[in-house]
Amino acid sequence: GKPVCECNSCYGGPDCSEFSSGCLADADSGNPLFLEPFWIAHAADSAVVVAGWHRMSYIFDDGSSISKELERHIRQLHAVTRNAVTEGRFILFGTGSTQLLIAAVHALSQDDSPSPARVVASIPFYPVYEMQTNFFRSMDFKFQGDASDWKNTSGSSLNFIEFVTSPNNPDGQLKEPVLQGPFVKTIHDHAYYWPHFTAIPAPANGDVMIFTMSKITGHAGSRFGWALIKDEGVYTRMSRYLSLNTMGVSRDTQLRALKLFKVALEGEGKEIFEFGYKTMRNRWEKLSKTFSGSTRFSIQKIAPRYCTYFEKIVGPSPAYAWLKCEREEDKDCYAVLKAAGIISRDGVLFKAEDHYVRLSLIKSQDDFDFLLNRLNALVSEEGAKI
Ligand code: PMP
Repeated sequence: GKPVCECNSCYGGPDCSEFSSGCLADADSGNPLFLEPFWIAHAADSAVVVAGWHRMSYIFDDGSSISKELERHIRQLHAVTRNAVTEGRFILFGTGSTQLLIAAVHALSQDDSPSPARVVASIPFYPVYEMQTNFFRSMDFKFQGDASDWKNTSGSSLNFIEFVTSPNNPDGQLKEPVLQGPFVKTIHDHAYYWPHFTAIPAPANGDVMIFTMSKITGHAGSRFGWALIKDEGVYTRMSRYLSLNTMGVSRDTQLRALKLFKVALEGEGKEIFEFGYKTMRNRWEKLSKTFSGSTRFSIQKIAPRYCTYFEKIVGPSPAYAWLKCEREEDKDCYAVLKAAGIISRDGVLFKAEDHYVRLSLIKSQDDFDFLLNRLNALVSEEGAKI
């Protein structure tokens, strides 16, 4: 069973059962604890024991810093979920996908180019793309905002690097690149392209595709991600970045990832993906019901689609709700929710209007239930006023 609990700030007492009414429902972070019950059910078979002498070396026997066995299991994960083409692709590991995102920007820009590559994404987008591009400032690349603003210039000889997040964080939509042309490179961030969060209509086959363990098994703390890369030159540049930056990913982390993927792959992933999808679907259905009677708030619409993994049409099960406060006087949607005891993530961070906020749906069941409770109270207030 689960070890002795640590109470979150909303509960106290010896067994964390005493509720403190003043606490806030925190739906801010994308901490993927919704998968914790799956791993509790697999506590023994997912455990890793490492003897002190094991994996001390900088390198594996073949001289690389990548476990071939782990690579093989990753290719298998893509094969069973049919979410990405891996044939003819190089693979690289990163300390979370966070490290790979900036490594990819480096690899797709050119050294000493007369003008820096323009790094863009389409609004609303994951804020880290801009934050990293600015923080690791270089002569070779520069963040240039909304991809849509550059639509008419992408056919020119300006160099662009577009981040495409599919499904998107924050709104869960499957996205395609906005820019196209001979000087446009695309980084496909597929952090959420797993059956938990979306229908898989077809295998992704972008030139640079980035995935993370954080959102497939939920082990965000192990900091493990990988990239599938088509072009050898891009692979070499990215690989150089990773070896100069961290000399590869912790061998202990690779060992843990291997164990977790082995368990996830049992029965072609049926158990973990069914658990993940059912959990997320159930949360979305409850949330949709909450907002169905509201004119003050709305959440994004995602069309049901055929999923080649489940071999049926599946309803939406996104990782986040992209909530809109519809009334003019509720312009500061973050403040409206805060007053109702809910911490959201301000839409402004995603470069959207402040009528929008993001609510995380991937935290623990307790977190979700509490959020729903607070949202139901907020929506029922609306009825009382009319
Ligand atoms: N890309 C997207 C779209 C994300 O939402 C996140 C995590 N929230 C990441 C990348 C980074 O995840 P990690 O570094 O844990 O792999």
